[in-house]
Amino acid sequence: MLNIVLFGPPGAGKGTQAENIKENYNLVHLSTGDIFRKNIGESTDLGVLAKSYIDKGELVPDEVTIKMLESEVNRYKDVNGFIFDGFPRTTEQANALDVFLKSIGTEVTKMVALNVPEKELVSRLLNRGKESGRTDDQDENIISNRIKVYEKNTAVLADFYDAQSKLENVNGLGSVEQVTKRIYNAIDN
Ligand code: ADP
Ligand code: ADP
Repeated sequence: MLNIVLFGPPGAGKGTQAENIKENYNLVHLSTGDIFRKNIGESTDLGVLAKSYIDKGELVPDEVTIKMLESEVNRYKDVNGFIFDGFPRTTEQANALDVFLKSIGTEVTKMVALNVPEKELVSRLLNRGKESGRTDDQDENIISNRIKVYEKNTAVLADFYDAQSKLENVNGLGSVEQVTKRIYNAIDN
């Protein structure tokens, strides 16, 4: 299987690029943010819980997020692989993913990390807020908290995968097509 962790701060382009990558490599795209938003839309218990964290720009607790991700993966049999978008976001999630993938006979192939300067992230997120209606993208305080949470809890995961020689850094600035080409090079490398 080909299992890609698509990594980067909020607004780095993970969701946009995942759509291209999934077509090219025939992978299943799993975005924890999208799954939470679907649950919020359907007012499930999980959605109500997740909303209370997402509205503040905080992370949804690991236990809930890991359980949800594992049950999503288990829905798919005989697939080429997965793109994990927005997961893992903590060391606990990364450890759980390693253990879980091993239990189903596979592993993370590569982490592709999109690097984008903070000023560009904020501008992209405010723009996405206007287009998508996502309330967590319409408030500069929530945006700045998400970027802080990323720096504090999530950024360290690049080292986690680097230690396994799985990290590929990609410049996330430029046109969507340029970034897509860089990602293909990183995956095929
Ligand atoms: P993420 O999933 O990492 O939060 P998205 O893929 O949703 O990021 O992208 C954030 C916003 O930036 C979206 O509005 C998207 O259309 C836009 N975007 C994505 N890639 C680029 C790019 N290469 N240049 C400019 N804007 C981009
Ligand atoms: P972005 O790409 O802009 O960071 P996402 O759609 O990935 O947005 O995530 C939106 C929100 O959903 C996050 O701010 C967080 O509250 C929650 N979330 C998504 N993925 C995770 C995760 N792996 N662990 C904890 N919370 C998560």
